[in-house]
Amino acid sequence: MSKVMIIGAGGVSRVVVHKCAGLPEVFGEIVLASRTMSKCEAIAAELDRPILTCSVDADNVPELTALLEKHRPDLVLNVALPYQDLHIMDACLAAEIDYIDTANYEPTDTAKFEYSWQWDYHDRFREAGVTAVLGSGFDPGVTSVFAMYLRKHYFDEVRAIEIVDCNAGDHGQPFATNFNPEINIREVTAKGRYWQAGEWIETEPLSVSRPFVLPEGLGTMNIYTMYHEELESLARHIPELKRARFWMSFSDNYLKHLEVLGNVGMTRIDEVEFKGQKIVPLQFLKALLPDPASLGPLTKGQTCIGCIVSGVKDGMPKRYYIYNICSHEAAYRETNSQAISYTTGVPAMIGAKLVLQHVWDGDGVFNMEEMDPDPFMEDLNCFGLPWKVVELAADETNYAFS
Ligand code: NDP
Repeated sequence: MSKVMIIGAGGVSRVVVHKCAGLPEVFGEIVLASRTMSKCEAIAAELDRPILTCSVDADNVPELTALLEKHRPDLVLNVALPYQDLHIMDACLAAEIDYIDTANYEPTDTAKFEYSWQWDYHDRFREAGVTAVLGSGFDPGVTSVFAMYLRKHYFDEVRAIEIVDCNAGDHGQPFATNFNPEINIREVTAKGRYWQAGEWIETEPLSVSRPFVLPEGLGTMNIYTMYHEELESLARHIPELKRARFWMSFSDNYLKHLEVLGNVGMTRIDEVEFKGQKIVPLQFLKALLPDPASLGPLTKGQTCIGCIVSGVKDGMPKRYYIYNICSHEAAYRETNSQAISYTTGVPAMIGAKLVLQHVWDGDGVFNMEEMDPDPFMEDLNCFGLPWKVVELAADETNYAFS
């Protein structure tokens, strides 16, 4: 039996806490620590077993280190914001406690995310004998494990990975984001980037798109290429990879709102003077938009996230589609959260479980691709995110990405 400290008490955290609480044989004790105590207490009140709650500013490394020393968890599961990653890693190093997160570090003043900052911690974690696993959400997270699972069992060589993230659900709001609005809008308005023939190709934001027919009758959606962090780690860990791209679905309504907000300056992340105060427009916009956690009871429909992987097996070209479909309503019934939080929180719990059980082990900083995909894939089926692998016919145009 182990003790976990979960940091952050937002939408993803709610799912993580529910899932960990449902597995007392692994998560014997749970400490939920976040900036706003009332949010920790609200999550704790939904559970049928007691957990400890406390407030912490995770950006204050001495304060967080003292909290870790006091509670001595076996693992810290970081589901605060990407801005906190390095501070939480610093505290974990100081207290010698294993670490896992769901999103890579991003500085507040630049809308740029890359692994270099966290990879830089590798030697320090290795020397301290501490494990850090980066990006155990769905994307990044499951998408990387999906790709590695296919690489291990279905291919001799992987050539191309197309990650396709579709949300065929609807929350009925004129405009809302499914996870933290600030992080979401920074990501979506950034330039696109994909890996091709050993180099990064940059594109204007959301400038490359195509229709995509979802499996199992979920309909057709327009998907757009974006930069996403697992492209960087997949390109590093699959040296034979010729191309890796990330696609996400957006409705015309979402894109129109985003365009207008961008045009009037509301998505800016630099400070502007307003009535003698400095404000960041995007942070102000976040305060006006619906809290993603409030979308749980409103959201209907399904998400479908997966990878289309092409490569070679026994000298023959092969292509497979591996995906999960997740129902917003079912996620809400189980955890009081919609499927975006659910599909992030369940893999975060599974990654934490595998580290605590020493099934995933190692001293240093690791991406999901470096771990054995099999136990994680098994747990996805057990804990609410079942997946399917479909072999694609050579003439299947919907899945043939040119
Ligand atoms: P929320 O904004 O709902 O929650 C973030 C939580 O972190 C809030 O409770 C917030 O506190 C807390 N927090 C922020 N700053 C601090 C701090 N300095 N100290 C302590 N706590 C702090 O975000 P989400 O739940 O939507 O997202 C959580 C994480 O999951 C993000 O990093 C996001 O990028 C990632 N994510 C990953 C996905 C994946 O598939 N890999 C998909 C979706 C999200 P307060 O309540 O006071 O604001």
